[in-house]
Amino acid sequence: YDAKQGRKGWSVFSQHDRSQGAHRLELRADLEEAFISQHILLDYQPKVNLADGKIIGVEGLARWHHPVHGVLSPYHFIELIEQSGRIQEFGRYVIKQAIEQLSAWQSQGIHTPIAINVSPYSLLDPELLEFTLALLKQHDISPSMLEIELIESSISINVEYIFKRLHEFKQAGIKLAIDDFGTGMSSLSYISHLNVHFIKIDKSFMQDVEQDTKKRAVISAAIQLARNFNGSVIAEGIETKQQADIIKAMGCEFGQGYYFAKPMSAQQVTLLIQADQPLPFSIESSFND
Ligand code: C2E
Ligand code: MG
Ligand code: MG
Ligand code: MG
Repeated sequence: YDAKQGRKGWSVFSQHDRSQGAHRLELRADLEEAFISQHILLDYQPKVNLADGKIIGVEGLARWHHPVHGVLSPYHFIELIEQSGRIQEFGRYVIKQAIEQLSAWQSQGIHTPIAINVSPYSLLDPELLEFTLALLKQHDISPSMLEIELIESSISINVEYIFKRLHEFKQAGIKLAIDDFGTGMSSLSYISHLNVHFIKIDKSFMQDVEQDTKKRAVISAAIQLARNFNGSVIAEGIETKQQADIIKAMGCEFGQGYYFAKPMSAQQVTLLIQADQPLPFSIESSFND
């Protein structure tokens, strides 16, 4: 295993994508092995209550621990999975991992909800809800411990059908969030149809939020919208105390971002949750490497 090679155009940390086409083909061939050997694992990033910095939940973020290329970011492989026709299989794979984590935590007395990212395309899986409910039941986990963050898909889908499926998840007690609010075209119609529990404001709105009145207008609109249906707003991509302060003053309830904590392994986030300290936690850096 050559760590340097892992950084050449593939890894989470690299900006170079010169021969992406060739990489894609190669990676596609490795997907089977990744599923079988569980090379794709969730990291977890805390979400906090802006009022007191306490962890209110975590978001599971997929990382492919590739045996040759190192740790790959979802930006490099989610689209690949969608295009190789395996996004439904991947959807189940991620749900199973999250529920097993909830189960491990429950046996340790930890009751922190987990949010997972779901591509609308994986909701076309007609048995996804049954699959999810059966697993929750098997592990004796309340559906309210699981949240679905609906992301945008690179493949166009039947929106009416997706509404219907999401509504079924909601009826079953699973929480719904609209991810990346402010960027997509479909967000608004999803929100008004479904009365989702959470709106997540895209991280691009945190950049220059101090100066940018247009960004603040969108954030205010999201907060107002959420109030109308008793939902809450989560601001993602908070990197500084100033951003946290501004967004809190605007009436945003929850936040997530490097300022509070970076995504980290299950083992690390478990320690952080058990520490039960407000974030940012002064010795938090020891959980991040
Ligand atoms: P997302 O769900 O909007 O996740 C937020 C992204 O912002 C994550 O990138 C996270 O690591 C990053 N982030 C968190 N805090 C900060 C911050 O303070 N500053 C900045 N600049 N970035 C921050 P990541 O982990 O690379 O995930 C990228 C996207 O990949 C996700 O965006 C989501 O759309 C997708 N994704 C991740 N995991 C899964 C999965 O299991 N299934 C599916 N279908 N999609 C996934
Ligand atoms: Mg998300
Ligand atoms: Mg997002
Ligand atoms: Mg995003």
